[in-house]
Amino acid sequence: MKGCVFCRIIERELPSRIVFEDESILAIEDINPQAPIHILIMPKRHYSTLPECDDAGLLGRMVATAKEIARERGVEEKGYRLVMNINREGGQTVFHLHMHLLAGRPLSGKLG
Ligand code: AMP
Ligand code: ZN
Repeated sequence: MKGCVFCRIIERELPSRIVFEDESILAIEDINPQAPIHILIMPKRHYSTLPECDDAGLLGRMVATAKEIARERGVEEKGYRLVMNINREGGQTVFHLHMHLLAGRPLSGKLG
């Protein structure tokens, strides 16, 4: 979608550090990491936010991708966190559906 930062990354119009890519998903390093490992997993197709996306298969593949990256980075056993911020009160700032994978430091048990 025109003007969407993540669409521009997917189209290679903006630089990013790509961690994983297949036909439907891209995973990149977050530009402002909140933990030693902070990766964003996003569909290549533009959905602005979760309620817009009814593709359960795609959503499942996003989780499976996060799980695989966590395994590759060796944080499975220590632990990690998957977060999806949804719309304004959910803390979403970039309106292209994405999931955060955070790991590499103890993450607070508190949410919000
Ligand atoms: P959210 O608040 O869930 O919408 O998260 C948006 C995330 O995108 C934030 O963690 C930002 O640091 C990250 N971000 C914004 N622009 C870029 C970019 N150009 N490359 C990588 N990550 C980005
Ligand atoms: Zn987009």
